This record gives sequence, structure tokens and C-alpha cells, in this order.
Amino acid sequence: MDTNAVKGYSGNMKIYLATGNKNKKREIQEIFPQHTIVTPADEGIDFDPEETGNTFLANSLIKARALWQITHCPVIADDSGICVDALGGRPGIYSSRYAGPEHPDNADGGKGVSQADKNRFLIAETDTAIENGLTKITDEAKSKGLFKNGLRSAHYTCAMVFFTDWFEYSATVQTMEGSIIERIEDARGTGGFGYDPIFLLPGQQKTAAELTDAEKNAISHRGKAARIIQKILEDSH
Ligand code: IMP
Repeated sequence: MDTNAVKGYSGNMKIYLATGNKNKKREIQEIFPQHTIVTPADEGIDFDPEETGNTFLANSLIKARALWQITHCPVIADDSGICVDALGGRPGIYSSRYAGPEHPDNADGGKGVSQADKNRFLIAETDTAIENGLTKITDEAKSKGLFKNGLRSAHYTCAMVFFTDWFEYSATVQTMEGSIIERIEDARGTGGFGYDPIFLLPGQQKTAAELTDAEKNAISHRGKAARIIQKILEDSH
């Protein structure tokens, strides 16, 4: 964890959330009830920084710095995505732009592709990787923490930063383990967002989209990261 001390934040604070994703705002506001979470769109701020980093953390810092430069107020930024073990961790940082194997560079392949199609592509690509026999649960893979939930293992990752000045921020990277469902016909649930309807929770027949916001926050990558940031804020005054 990359942590620079953040001092003196208590009481109700206005915190900008560096996202255009209303679902993320809903999930984060639930964890920070004492603070007012505001997105750029809430204040008519045009915000779409280019995510040029190679890691979730690098991209969350790019978003945080970009919004801090506009607002000069405390900012929370996160960068997140789904990583499928059988695909070597793809789509990872390209999850929002993922458009299946036809667009391997993901440059802007995901634009105009519905989330339902992204889900369908991801199941199909996972199937292909497994059917090709390239996916093996080796001791080496296990020692790296891969394939915890079988051949279809996947995890969400969230890098979150609380950013208060150019070199003053706290950061954490958290994950949520699960697996990719076998058939798109079995996608289910209306909660959450993104890949949640095809993300099976370990040892359950439930997808992440079948959880309430509170249930998801209790175990999710974003929930864990936000609680760590919250604890850092509490301890800093
Ligand atoms: P970001 O806004 O650049 O961080 O993109 C995150 C992308 O990763 C989203 O658009 C989703 O496709 C995926 N993702 C991240 N977190 C979740 C989650 O909690 N559930 C489902 N999909 C997620």
C-alpha cells in the first residue's frame, strides 16, 4: 500500500468522486454517510481524463490528480476492473472498454458495445481459453493465488486513492474473488452494475448482481478499499 499521511479530515466533508459512474457514487456514498460525495457531473464539470496508466493504481491517480487540479478539494478516485485467471488477468484495466477478442488492443473497441454483449464476450472468451486446454491449475498458478475458484476463477480489483494535494494521498488496492458463470442464459440479478450478473460468488449459486448494495459493499473490492480509506481519514485527526 502506498500511503502518505493525510491530516486533519473530520466532520462532514465535501469529497469529489472522480467518476461519471452513478453506480460507483451510490456504492461509495453508502460507505461515507457522514460526508457529501459529489461527482463532476453533479456540478457540470466536464471530466474525462485519458487513462494512460498500466495499472489500476496509476489510473486512479491520473483521475484523482485531474479532478484535484480542477477543484482543489479532497478527491476520491478509483480504478477497477475484472480480471479472469484463464485470460491471464484480462480484461483488467480495460474492463470498461472490453469488446471481446475481436478488439484485442481494446483501444476504443468497447465504445458502443452494450454491457450485455461485454458479458457474453467474456463468457465466450473464457470458454475458448479453457477449451483450448491452455488453462491449467498448476502449483505455480496456485502459489500466485490464481484459480482459487476453479478454472473459471476471476476477481475484481479496485485501486482507490484519497487525494488532497499533488504529493499527499492515501491509496489501497483490494480484490473480490469469484468466478465467471458458464452460460450467458444464467446471467442474473438486477443489483450492482457491469459484470455483476455473470460474476458468481465463491461457493454460492448467487451472482454479485443478486446482492443488495449493502451486502455487496461488505465483501466487494470497492467496499474494502473505501473502508480502508475511511479508517485512514478517521485516524488522521
Ligand atoms: P473504471 O470506471 O475505469 O474504473 O472502469 C471500471 C469497469 O470495470 C466498469 O465499467 C465495469 O465494467 C468493471 N467493474 C468494476 N467494478 C465492478 C463491479 O463492482 N461490478 C461489475 N463490474 C465492475
